[in-house]
Amino acid sequence: MTVILGIESTAHTFGVGLVEDGRVLANHEDMHRPVEGGIRPSEAATHHREVGPELVKKAMIKRPDAVAYSASPGIGSCLKVGTELAQKLAEELGVPLVPVNHAISHLEIGIHTTGAKEDDVVAVYVSGGNTQIIARSGVKGWQVFGETLDIALGNALDKLARQLGLPHPGGPKLEKLAERAGTSGDLLDMPYVVKGMDLSYSGMFTHATRMLARGESPERVARAFQEHAFAMLVEVTERAVAHTGKGQVLLVGGVVQNRRLRDMFDIMCRERGVKCLAVPPEFAGDNGVMIAHSGWLRFRKGWMLKPEQAGYFQKMRVNEEPYNLLAGQE
Ligand code: AMP
Ligand code: MG
Repeated sequence: MTVILGIESTAHTFGVGLVEDGRVLANHEDMHRPVEGGIRPSEAATHHREVGPELVKKAMIKRPDAVAYSASPGIGSCLKVGTELAQKLAEELGVPLVPVNHAISHLEIGIHTTGAKEDDVVAVYVSGGNTQIIARSGVKGWQVFGETLDIALGNALDKLARQLGLPHPGGPKLEKLAERAGTSGDLLDMPYVVKGMDLSYSGMFTHATRMLARGESPERVARAFQEHAFAMLVEVTERAVAHTGKGQVLLVGGVVQNRRLRDMFDIMCRERGVKCLAVPPEFAGDNGVMIAHSGWLRFRKGWMLKPEQAGYFQKMRVNEEPYNLLAGQE
């Protein structure tokens, strides 16, 4: 039996998970909620530094064989806190460190919890900081087939919610607002920006802000925003499914908690005759369990570092492994 502790600290959430051979033993987290405006890196890092040690204590109900941590991609100051805490823990416990690519981890927890087949999925990764359509491509591993050209979908929803005075995270509150608009009646027009396999949300956000300033109803704006934003994503995903011939669509990341988003993907998948799978809500947003799980998969391959080899990277693509860079493999 192998026990892995996982530390997540790439953005708002500080999470700690403990898994034993793929089974969840503990899952604790605390989210930094900016009082106003978006995330401020130094404030988020201070939050993580404050809550981190307590969360580790709570989650460590069994001695881990290794400490896994999010090594990339993310906000530098936040990654630093998680990396240093993981390093200190590994030193104290006398166990190795396992660095994890956060984006790959979202995919792996999705696959693990839904039974999706790695080689047969088109994954839709929609979170506060990312919007990407990803699939495996031969020996190249995970590849991005399409992505946002500017802001991420979660970020767009959070920004719009902020305009309406709704506190972070705004996505779920905007969802409730949109529901209140009902499904009958005209849909307000919004820019629909799909460029090849990529999409853009910033123009839509500006447009929605102007509509609100003109006195348009928040419910109707929220509904139209969701309908357009999700339809763009479904369109690009459908094209990726058609191009790749894959048989499953896997939804991962915090925005997947949105009911309407899942329903729209369900409809497209049914019409195309492919399977639609979504990561369970408790593992959709950033969490420590997914890092522990990915850590376990890598621990079994021997992808371990000595505590002094710890490091992190703000940017990393979904086909890169931080282990290779930190261990000097490639
Ligand atoms: P993550 O970055 O993966 O931790 O996911 C956080 C993002 O998910 C934030 O932008 C949230 O607003 C968004 N989110 C969470 N729940 C919902 C929901 N029900 N509808 C839309 N967005 C959501
Ligand atoms: Mg994430």
